[in-house]
Amino acid sequence: MREQSNIKEITKIRNEMTKLDEKYSKFEEKLNKLQVVEETLWVKSGSCTICGQEGEDGYTEWHHIISQHKCKKENLLHLISARSNVVELCKPCHDLTTSSMLRSNLPEGVVGGSRVSDENAESEPTDKQLKYIKKLGGEIPDDLTRQGASLLIDDLKKVKN
Ligand SMILES: [Zn+2]
Repeated sequence: MREQSNIKEITKIRNEMTKLDEKYSKFEEKLNKLQVVEETLWVKSGSCTICGQEGEDGYTEWHHIISQHKCKKENLLHLISARSNVVELCKPCHDLTTSSMLRSNLPEGVVGGSRVSDENAESEPTDKQLKYIKKLGGEIPDDLTRQGASLLIDDLKKVKN
């Protein structure tokens, strides 16, 4: 049986895998560097991309063109942090975007009828949100955040309407 050993082929495949591993690590390193650069591009100018007005007291918000929820759903996480996928808007214009309008249609108490505040965006969804998602016939993903739940509710409502 000893002579039937597949050691040569095993060694060959292991060597190939090591090479691919190294290549993968290099790509990963390159991506991480690009990611760091991408983050530096998130600099606000204080004026709105749509109306051109300065935000009140220079206050503006980032608006995702392809929504964060959609990015998560379609496994396009890199588009959440891509500077090319956000525009800077004043609050009045941001409130006029489709996602904001859907959010403001939510029943009282689901997310307080307004956008989830930034501090709470990554925390656990509230019980009310979870109940509402179930009521709308949605499934609850494992790593759902409060922001994600809010966006999911938007989508479920869209499907329902
Ligand atoms: Zn504006």
